[in-house]
Amino acid sequence: MTAGTKARIRADLCDLMLVPGLSGHEERVASAIRARLPEGVTTQTDRLGNLIATFPGDPDAPAVMLFTHMDQLGFFVRKVEADGLIRVERMGGLSERAMAAQAVWLCTDQGDVPGLIMNKAHHATGADEKYTVLATPDIRIDTGHGSKAAVEAAGIRIGTPVVYRPQVMALAGDRVAGTAVDDRAGCAVQIEVARALAVRQGGPTVHLVWSVQEEFNLRGAVVAAQVLRPDIAIQIDLMLACDTPDMAERGEMALGGGPGISLYNFHGRGTLNGVIAHPALVRLFETAAAAAGMALQRAAQIGVLTDLSYVQTVGAGVACIDVGFPMRHSHSALECCDVADLAGLATLLVAALDRVTPALRLTREG
Ligand SMILES: [Zn+2]
Repeated sequence: MTAGTKARIRADLCDLMLVPGLSGHEERVASAIRARLPEGVTTQTDRLGNLIATFPGDPDAPAVMLFTHMDQLGFFVRKVEADGLIRVERMGGLSERAMAAQAVWLCTDQGDVPGLIMNKAHHATGADEKYTVLATPDIRIDTGHGSKAAVEAAGIRIGTPVVYRPQVMALAGDRVAGTAVDDRAGCAVQIEVARALAVRQGGPTVHLVWSVQEEFNLRGAVVAAQVLRPDIAIQIDLMLACDTPDMAERGEMALGGGPGISLYNFHGRGTLNGVIAHPALVRLFETAAAAAGMALQRAAQIGVLTDLSYVQTVGAGVACIDVGFPMRHSHSALECCDVADLAGLATLLVAALDRVTPALRLTREG
């Protein structure tokens, strides 16, 4: 890993965190990514909005789809009240405990309109309300307009996307907090991988996909996989950092401890899906990390799920593994990651892709 890698990823991450992109509305994020890709890299965009860059390679080596999602969670406007207060539906697994009094942007055709999620005056909050949170259908957003007509004149309508006001906060050292670290951090890592692929010699065919609608229904990347038909799919997303007192029981993933792989993830609440990493890919990442002298963290957790779950069942089956970076405060307005972990992940991915040769066996016999 070089200092340049870290600086580039930090710059890309901080820029991408400031671009709103609710699921199904990822176009601005895709444009920002396209603008950062190295010269000569051509991209295509499918009907759902997946942004794809293919780097052709050795046809005898397994083809790889490396992907990461561009979208972020938030809300959709459900109703505008006569008094101009706005009611919303949740879009994705937002943390309702971390919602009250947050600033938001309502992204309209006329521009981004600032608003805030209302929080009852503390002076008037009774003992019975003090330690409870409102469910999303009960929250109200105030844009200051004061009437339904004024809200609508500002371009806000039923279906308008709403995200937490984009923000970046540099914490001490390499730590960065703010909106949509999940998964603009993955997007930034993948841009750095694109820079390496643009100048590589040899190697397998690699399709980089910046995917859509992960926070919505986890199926956007499936559409890309159906067309690209990769032998291997590697997915980049956050891994839950467990090095804080509230998370200590869940595992050993430490923020700043380097990139990680997921051996097992599963989500049973209405989804019933997950990924058990392909053993050949576990070995691939373990040997790539060891050869580079890098730490490689491990996760095995219930309650976590990515779009890779659906990609693994495409065609005759795809060999899959989730890789990622530790992150704190997931699905709140101030998620936190460590840029050194992201740089390590980019370095590890380039090293692992280099080891995808015709000799890499994905068979499951014996
Ligand atoms: Zn994510």
